[in-house]
Amino acid sequence: MEYAEVAVDAPVGASRTFSYHVSGRFPVEPGQLVWVPFGSRTLQGIVVELAPAPQVEATKDILEPVEPSPLLTPLALQLGRWISRYYLAGLFDSLSLFLPPAFKAHVISTITPGDDRCGDPDNLEGLTRPDETAAAVDALRLARRMPESEFTKVLGKGGIRAVNRLVDRKIVQRKVSLPHPGRFRYDCQIVPGSAPQRLALVADGLSERQSRLLEAVFDRTQPIPLTTARKEFGAYTVDSLLDRGMLGLEWTRTSPSPVSHADAGIHVGRPALTLTAAQATAVARIIASVDDPAVQPRSFLLHGVTGSGKTEVYLRAIERVVERGRQAIFLVPEISLTPQTVERVSARFPGRVAVLHSRQKQAEKFNQWWGIRDGRYDVVVGPRSALFAPVPNLGLVVIDEEHEATFKQQEGQPRYHTRTTALELGRMSGSVVVLGSATPDVESYFLAEQGRYGLLQLPHRINPDGDARPLPLARTEICDMREELRQGNRSIFSRVLEQALKDCVSRGQQAILFLNRRGSAPFVQCRDCGYVVTCSGCAVSLTYHSGDSSGSGPAGPLLCHQCNRRRRMPRNCRQCGGSRIRQLGIGTQRVEQEVSRVLPGAKIERWDMDASRGGDGPEEMMRRLASGETQVLVGTQMVAKGLDVPNVTLVGVVLADVGINLPDFRSGERAFGLLCQVAGRAGRGSVPGRVIIQTYSPGHYAITAAANQDYSQLYQQEIAARREQGNPPFNRLVHLVCHDTSAGVCQRQALATARLFRQMVAVQGLADVEIVGPAPGIPQRVRGQYRWHLTLRGRNLHRFLEGATLSPSWTVDVDPVRVV
Ligand code: ADP
Ligand code: ZN
Repeated sequence: MEYAEVAVDAPVGASRTFSYHVSGRFPVEPGQLVWVPFGSRTLQGIVVELAPAPQVEATKDILEPVEPSPLLTPLALQLGRWISRYYLAGLFDSLSLFLPPAFKAHVISTITPGDDRCGDPDNLEGLTRPDETAAAVDALRLARRMPESEFTKVLGKGGIRAVNRLVDRKIVQRKVSLPHPGRFRYDCQIVPGSAPQRLALVADGLSERQSRLLEAVFDRTQPIPLTTARKEFGAYTVDSLLDRGMLGLEWTRTSPSPVSHADAGIHVGRPALTLTAAQATAVARIIASVDDPAVQPRSFLLHGVTGSGKTEVYLRAIERVVERGRQAIFLVPEISLTPQTVERVSARFPGRVAVLHSRQKQAEKFNQWWGIRDGRYDVVVGPRSALFAPVPNLGLVVIDEEHEATFKQQEGQPRYHTRTTALELGRMSGSVVVLGSATPDVESYFLAEQGRYGLLQLPHRINPDGDARPLPLARTEICDMREELRQGNRSIFSRVLEQALKDCVSRGQQAILFLNRRGSAPFVQCRDCGYVVTCSGCAVSLTYHSGDSSGSGPAGPLLCHQCNRRRRMPRNCRQCGGSRIRQLGIGTQRVEQEVSRVLPGAKIERWDMDASRGGDGPEEMMRRLASGETQVLVGTQMVAKGLDVPNVTLVGVVLADVGINLPDFRSGERAFGLLCQVAGRAGRGSVPGRVIIQTYSPGHYAITAAANQDYSQLYQQEIAARREQGNPPFNRLVHLVCHDTSAGVCQRQALATARLFRQMVAVQGLADVEIVGPAPGIPQRVRGQYRWHLTLRGRNLHRFLEGATLSPSWTVDVDPVRVV
């Protein structure tokens, strides 16, 4: 095969590859990361396949490999191509999910002055903006060298094109170096080539230098480094023999493969735990599919409230897979919030678990990647990106808390959903996929009901004291805050929650207060004219963060939750000049202050994005809570996950209404999941727990279902609404957002695209493609970019979109989890 199809690191149409010639100087294999020329640039590319013929006549050569061994397995290539097609994302971006850390890189391009005529004004003739160019070249001469990006900036407008012209005229020189990945060093050596007639040709028409070089390569026992050969015999001699296939190149990694700390697998016996009947049934069904690739279904939904023993089921399934010599990938929504789960997995397979997380040092990530690839781990635990870990022989993927939105990649490219992708990976590799949740995504539950997944139920909480009677769920009550107001209580706590807090702490027990909004006050408003202080770059109100170490910086206490910009508190209203500016609404900071008013002297801790950024890590927070040091923990959804502290007997939801009325058809489902999760923090020990949900909309179905801890109530209501509105799982959605710095341009683009789509639908007679919108996004503007969005709804949206071309101002999100 003389040609290679390469996915190139450039924003080109979705699944497109480019043909390159394989020069024969070095072996090229599918899955290899290589440097290729692309236009005037040198870019990374991934070899997707070898081909006997190119797509176009004129092809260039692959320059050199980044790493000689292929980094993507055939399975990774197959899944990466599927991701690119399904999520309408660039092929390189999709494949690069599988690359080891630090391998994705750009060339380092340096500009130096050319020969003596550099800066000669005659020489700049015909260039646009000659004066500016001359000044830039002078600056370059003074500096002697500049990174290309800097030099283009100095050149000003049209700099990128101007550099190329200056290079062509030899006024400046470009030196490109191809960086090697993070910690690896490579040697490039000359080896005997692959041309079979090489010996016959030796006598024939070779120059003396060429003959000497050939002899040297064939006779010496030590390989000759390419640089040495170029120096001794001249670059021309070397290249001519390489071109004729008489010599070849070989890259060898000189740095050893990283050694990870995994020790030999000493399996400790499993703890003497007798599975409950429900657990045993679930384990048996999963294992049957693990053992026999012909058994259907091969994916399961494990539905069970927190504390019902799901983790134990996962662990038994993993054990079986490991016994069969295969590996398991265990995905959790956020690693720092699930330390107890991670610990349990690590304890069950000592030394054989790779835990991936974002706070790891690059070197550690790097070592782990190679360790996983070399088969030194049986289990990989991590967030969504761990799905792409290079395990040699995958047997099982577990997705715990499968309903969590963090499993959807929501920024950049590709916007993949971990669950959908894992199911596809399972199908391609014959692996079993287990999805687990206390509050499954209604789409997952629907598919399980349809028989697409095996539905496994764990209906009761297990009593860890060994008592056969299942633990009762915490007692949950809804508190109508409108009634509190009517009775003259203007505090953020209802009387019942305030009393419960006092009782809880005085009994030596602990409480968690949850509010899904950080800061002190979400609005700052003028009392006289009603003006609300907003961010200058985003169409959202600024949140007041009161003066603690992390809340207010030197730049002021007002923070934009979209773009993180800070501002001072204005003295006067921008609109009316009045001075009566007030903070309105509540956030976690305010709750913290109120608790210290109600319970003076109590040890209170706040846990949200601000606190985690400023203070010490989650481990410390967990330790203080577990040891009983923290009496009241206040926090956002970060406190909803994973905390398992038996002495927490009270959970208060300060305001359940936050986010519940967003114009997103999933907002009810999401609020329900969150409330159930928070409620699950109470009463994990032998003392029964109590949950108090404060709300201004006590009749909202998500709130009543959560208060009853009744998944089926939520599910029935939700699935009926989905059916009626034609939303997933009854249809697919594709969400498109248009961005522009000009409000008018953005709106016009959105309207024009929607019109075009409607025409396409009419012309193609597609009855099942519906176009919803366009409408201004929520928020309407982020970081200075206006947003308009539109949603496609239907069954066969991929076929429809294949025929559409979108300008780069659009982002496309297939199967979106948020549609605002
Ligand atoms: P989940 O993952 O559903 O929240 P876990 O697997 O964490 O549930 O189980 C909750 C608690 O019950 C844990 O302390 C666990 O060790 C314990 N447990 C699980 N299965 C059993 C069992 N079969 N017998 C006794 N205790 C169990
Ligand atoms: Zn902003």
